[in-house]
Amino acid sequence: MAQFLDSVPFSGIIRIRDMMYSVDRPFRLDQGDVSFDAPASVKAALQKAITDNRTHYVQTTGIPPLLDLLVEKMRTKNGLPIGGSDEVMVTNGGIHAQYIACLALLEPGDQVLIPDPAWPPTVSNILAAQAVPVPYPLYENRGWRPDMAELASLITPKTKAIVINTPCNPTGGVFTREDLDALAALVTERNLWVFSDEAYEDFLFDGREHLSIASWPGMYERTIAMYTLSKTYAITGLRLGYLAIKDPVIRDRAKKVVFCTTANVSSIGQYGAVGALEGPQDVIEEFRREIAARRDIFYEKLPKASKGLMTGAHPAGAFYAFVKIDPAWTSPLPNAPESQSWAMTEFLIKRARIGSVPGVDFGARGEGYLRFCFARDRKEIEGALESMEAAFTA
Ligand code: PLP
Repeated sequence: MAQFLDSVPFSGIIRIRDMMYSVDRPFRLDQGDVSFDAPASVKAALQKAITDNRTHYVQTTGIPPLLDLLVEKMRTKNGLPIGGSDEVMVTNGGIHAQYIACLALLEPGDQVLIPDPAWPPTVSNILAAQAVPVPYPLYENRGWRPDMAELASLITPKTKAIVINTPCNPTGGVFTREDLDALAALVTERNLWVFSDEAYEDFLFDGREHLSIASWPGMYERTIAMYTLSKTYAITGLRLGYLAIKDPVIRDRAKKVVFCTTANVSSIGQYGAVGALEGPQDVIEEFRREIAARRDIFYEKLPKASKGLMTGAHPAGAFYAFVKIDPAWTSPLPNAPESQSWAMTEFLIKRARIGSVPGVDFGARGEGYLRFCFARDRKEIEGALESMEAAFTA
């Protein structure tokens, strides 16, 4: 029965990563990774964990001091009415949280509404649980938010859950309080679950605040809230995510998935996470402010660098520019792919040494768009845009 995995796609991001390895002096705007170093608090905690020989098996769902800190964080920062640390699990990054949530909740054939465009593992994880992703459109002219009436019209008797990702990768769209009011009412009325992917909770711009749907009255019970330390503390390689589940049956299943896939998340990493949460938190705002400045640099320079071929409004959150390619543009390269977003991606790699991700990799509605990560350092962003301008001038 392993054949179904043949239809689970790899993300094009992997193909691009491979292509980028053959590029001399590349501009890596393809990767969703921040350029900052880990905070000193994390490094010290990791080093101490090694010195203290914290290298043995630990509790399946996470070490108690970390679970306690995560409960406190989700209660105070996200407003989740968490009963206790038994409702929380440490995961091998946010991607593992998503896999666990899908396996724990979904039956084969269940339908799950997902945003289009969406982060590619969203589709893969649902398929890996033998369930069926059903896209709901996000609209650029609505700030990459859905039309709630349209979303409601896609619900069928087989729908089990709705995925939301706010702020969103790749679009940078952020759901409003009214969107979440409407969604909470809808899922309550139709007795559905929400997978709430809040990986970018700390990256909102222009005075916006992050809202967790699990903090709405009655919603924690029907939401699997998923978080990661990867982006917030610039520790993508340590693989530290977490989730919270109220329902004891679903939670028990989730715990089995954690056990079967990791036994426990790296002990050393978990002590590093304790350091992250106990250390000074101003680092989060420092990172956010710098990322906001990089966003502004990118969008200020893009019109000239792309000769007007790429356009888009400043994103409200996350750290990606999801820009529209002029529909009239065609690639000057021989044997260019039919997909315009792939053609532009290849053009920028070959002619400008710039990595980006084709919009179509995030869903059908992403065709004609390109995603650039602006969490790279200023020099890399500016170098990429100069190189882009030269490529379009040549
Ligand atoms: N969710 C979204 C939308 C993401 O973009 C990412 C990473 O890019 C994640 C979750 C998970 O990140 P990680 O597995 O690195 O913690």
